[in-house]
Amino acid sequence: MVGKEIKSSLLSLTSIIIEYLIFSSLLFLIYLSSFYNYLLFHTVAELSAIIISIGIFIIGWNSKAYLKTSFFLIIGVSFLFIGIIDLVHTLAYAGMNIFIDFTSNLPTSLWIVARYWQALSLLLALILFNKKINLYYLVFLNFIFLIILMEAIFSGIFPLCYIEGVGLTPFKIINEYIIDIIFIISLIWFYILRKEFDKKIRVYIIISTISTILSEIAFTFYIGVYDFSNLVGHLLKIVAFYYMYKAIIKTGIKEPYDLLFRKLKLSEEELKIRAERLEDMASFPLENPNPVLRVNEALIMSANKASQEVFNTEEGNLIPKTLQHYIDECFSTSKNMETEIKIGDAVYTFFFMINEEKGYVNIYGLNITERIKAKQRLERFVATVSHELRNPISVLVTSTEFLNSHSDELTEEIIQKLKEGMTKNIYLLKDLVDDILMLSRIDERKITLDLSEVKPFEIIQEILILMEPIGNRKNMTFKVNIDPNLTIYGDSKRLDQIFRIFIDNAIKYSAKGSMVMIESVDLYHGQLNKQNIDGVLFFIEDTGIGIAKDEIPNLFKRFFRSDKVSDIPGTGLGLSIAKELIELHGGSVEVESEFMKGTKFSIFLPKKKDYK
Ligand code: ATP
Ligand code: MG
Repeated sequence: MVGKEIKSSLLSLTSIIIEYLIFSSLLFLIYLSSFYNYLLFHTVAELSAIIISIGIFIIGWNSKAYLKTSFFLIIGVSFLFIGIIDLVHTLAYAGMNIFIDFTSNLPTSLWIVARYWQALSLLLALILFNKKINLYYLVFLNFIFLIILMEAIFSGIFPLCYIEGVGLTPFKIINEYIIDIIFIISLIWFYILRKEFDKKIRVYIIISTISTILSEIAFTFYIGVYDFSNLVGHLLKIVAFYYMYKAIIKTGIKEPYDLLFRKLKLSEEELKIRAERLEDMASFPLENPNPVLRVNEALIMSANKASQEVFNTEEGNLIPKTLQHYIDECFSTSKNMETEIKIGDAVYTFFFMINEEKGYVNIYGLNITERIKAKQRLERFVATVSHELRNPISVLVTSTEFLNSHSDELTEEIIQKLKEGMTKNIYLLKDLVDDILMLSRIDERKITLDLSEVKPFEIIQEILILMEPIGNRKNMTFKVNIDPNLTIYGDSKRLDQIFRIFIDNAIKYSAKGSMVMIESVDLYHGQLNKQNIDGVLFFIEDTGIGIAKDEIPNLFKRFFRSDKVSDIPGTGLGLSIAKELIELHGGSVEVESEFMKGTKFSIFLPKKKDYK
């Protein structure tokens, strides 16, 4: 990169040196010609200046579209006319013998007009720097002036400037000074406007103006039209024109091209950036269900659908406030980050990946709400299970120890009671372990249903037969109102489990002598049949202790047991297992209960295969 720069600046330095060498040798050649013949020198010098004038005009005229100000436009047009007057001046010069009836006053008058033209156009160009100029109007005005002045000079109205044998008239000398003053004013004006010009152009214009001033001063000195100061004046004039030419070339040709190249370069870079962006977009996971964003230091560059929903925003908007801090940190430390952020009810892990080179941060969000909830559930489950297991185990441990160490002192009755307690707790432990295993299998989705058409009547009958001893003990009556031919679609083993849980509860939580009703409604369509499919609604209703209103919402939760049933054994897992199994069958369950009056469970189970 640096090497390249050095190379290009060396190149431009050589080209500058070559340019100055050519220019100064040309000047020297023109100067040399004066030794041969002063008329030759004058003609060559003037023609050189005229060629440069025409060059200034051509470049100014053709680059009018790129010129930002009127300055070079006015200069360009006026140099055409300066060139024309100078040409006439050259042709009218003493010794040319073209305008035979005129003295050296003619070229001197033409000279002073051309210099006025030059000085005034420079001043005007500075005054009208920022004004819009009508080009054709400008040419027309110049043309009118040319006609008037030429007419005045050739008809002899124009004041005398040179008297043969005497030399320059005071009119000529005074006006030469006035021209210098106009140039000095222009220089001051130019100084005021200097910021509007490029550094190089500034130098060129200053060199051109000062050369003109010096050339004018030289011309006030000469007596003969062939003397030395006349020679210096002409050479300085070429220098002045040449620098104006350089200034206009730089403004009208070099700068527009540079500008063009700069614009091309910019658009090339822009294209590159766009291509990169497209490439990035192609790899941007728009369809990802998790929020994915790309941001710069202030704005969202890309945002997939999920992130637009999470942050309620879209591309082009400001960075979401919740992320701002982390993004800032990412940019300031240039390090990737990871953090958990709560948005509404959800918890996300956000990964911030910085791409320093391209100046953006990619943000990937992962919704971990469910994972956190599951983790909490598991922790609670483990805590409760260990607590629930500890109870019966400690009863067993203490009872065993008691029996072993105090066997001599214990009465038969106490021993019997201890044994009963131990048996009860062993069964409780067995139930607990069974239930926990069952639930964990449900949780792990390891339970597959062995589906077939089953008759609920038969299942319930079997359960009641098995439970008869307990029922009898409590003197319970069961009323079953189910069509024996009614069928549902399910896993008979699991259905047995479901009904057993409800019937067991109905017996357990009812006083002696109460009644349990088991009924069914075939092809039930109602609130519990959410998918509106063919199914049966079962009721298991008791007149037992009921459930307090505030406890109902917790009824199906794992390990929930009412405070009022602490003397009745149970794990608190029955209903939660039943609910899971019902839902596994595509059904649903609901409870209505009134404390101390009774409870009614409604269970909906599908009849056909057509549930999910
Ligand atoms: P197990 O797991 O041994 O069945 P459990 O009966 O205590 O223990 P669930 O069947 O889940 O557990 O019942 C949870 C709680 O709901 C019970 O402890 C009881 O307080 C209440 N409950 C359940 N069914 C009834 C009912 N029919 N009448 C009154 N309360 C009930
Ligand atoms: Mg129970």
